[in-house]
Amino acid sequence: MAIVSSSSGRTAQTCPSACITILGSTGSIGKSTLEVIDLHPQYRVFALTAHQSVAALLEQCLRYRPRYAVMVDENAATRLDAALREQGAETEVLAGAQGLITVASHPDCDTVMAAIVGSAGLAPTLAAVEQAKKVLLANKEALVMAGDLFMEAVSRSGAVLLPIDSEHNAVFQCLPHDGRRATDDVMGRGVNRIVLTASGGPFRETPLEQLAQVTPQQACRHPNWEMGRKISVDSATMMNKGLEVIEACFLFGVGPQSIEVLIHPQSIVHSMVEYLDGSIIAQLGHPDMRTPIAYSLAWPGRMHSGVSFLDLARQPDLQFFAPDLQRFPCLRLGMEAAAAGGTAPTVLNATNEVAVAAFLEGQIGFTAIPAIIESVLAQMTCRQASTIDIIRQADEQARALAAKAAAQISTQTATQIARSAIHHS
Ligand code: NAD
Ligand code: MG
Repeated sequence: MAIVSSSSGRTAQTCPSACITILGSTGSIGKSTLEVIDLHPQYRVFALTAHQSVAALLEQCLRYRPRYAVMVDENAATRLDAALREQGAETEVLAGAQGLITVASHPDCDTVMAAIVGSAGLAPTLAAVEQAKKVLLANKEALVMAGDLFMEAVSRSGAVLLPIDSEHNAVFQCLPHDGRRATDDVMGRGVNRIVLTASGGPFRETPLEQLAQVTPQQACRHPNWEMGRKISVDSATMMNKGLEVIEACFLFGVGPQSIEVLIHPQSIVHSMVEYLDGSIIAQLGHPDMRTPIAYSLAWPGRMHSGVSFLDLARQPDLQFFAPDLQRFPCLRLGMEAAAAGGTAPTVLNATNEVAVAAFLEGQIGFTAIPAIIESVLAQMTCRQASTIDIIRQADEQARALAAKAAAQISTQTATQIARSAIHHS
């Protein structure tokens, strides 16, 4: 245990020391986690991992000297290893997806930040849960795709699961803390509803007829948050909020009928909990992921995050609107998948990953994303998500159908472009 002093001279609460694996350390959440750790020397970096960005992981390894570095791409692992040896660093390099599991479940690591994007994060995050680690969960796709099994594993192992997603972190902070686990029997403890806020993304007011033409660059320009490209597109379609409704159902053990989504363009109120007596408890702060990261690292204490304090007198009006499901069909699809349960969230997540990747590669237009997801959901039968094999099958089948649909749309678009070029020449 260590006492942390702040630069302002005030002393933060006693926070436990920890030995941390950061899955996805070169991403937006990974880097913010390292920035928080920079302020608090009692947190030691045990392992850092990335997909294939050698230069970024090399720089982090030289600075933080972790015991392990994992590169999922084997070729990148060889290059990282050579570069580290050249610098005389002692970090051991592991390659491949198995390396992620090794460092997430290693007995010498007690805390795991799950910040890989997409379904690739499921296996190592689950491995950390099964070893009863303190798991800081940013990787919402892991929970969406296998929520029942994931939460069962949390209960069985006794892992401490803390939500990093700003909305869920806010809800967690606003739930009753009466000595029981914050997430136990939420509705039985006077909660009436959970209210998730959403910025509405960059296209909240874009004329509907222009949405088909928006570019990946425009979609990734989020008004309030700086994030990786996949979640930025998810925010633009509002699939991010659909995924978050499902995430909240699993994390807090509530049905989607107990969750309301409100558009709040300023992203100052990160979410709220409404109680039976009419009280609403909200968590406010600047839109900066270092706050939920510092909260979860220090939990149950509090410590500085590096985020400046909010001056409410200088804030513009805080606005709230009901979301327009015509503009944001992905939010509707997310809420429908939450209500359907079983493999529906798995299929939703898999098709969304494929459709977003196709959009980012310029293969399909923005409005094709919900069209592909809706058509794949209609083609597949929803099953009980009772085993990992059933989940894998649903995931693979959904990806194959989504890839086929994206390729068809891409060919149609190319043919239309060619026809219109001939017509104009
Ligand atoms: P990012 O794209 O910036 O970073 C992703 C990280 O995962 C990188 O380190 C990358 O190397 C690694 N990675 C990518 N593909 C991989 C693969 N196949 N195998 C192993 N590693 C892989 O993403 P991000 O914005 O940091 O988001 C990470 C997760 O956190 C996502 O699930 C996202 O939904 C969630 N999240 C992010 C924010 C945010 O503000 N960025 C907020 C809430 C939740
Ligand atoms: Mg969020």
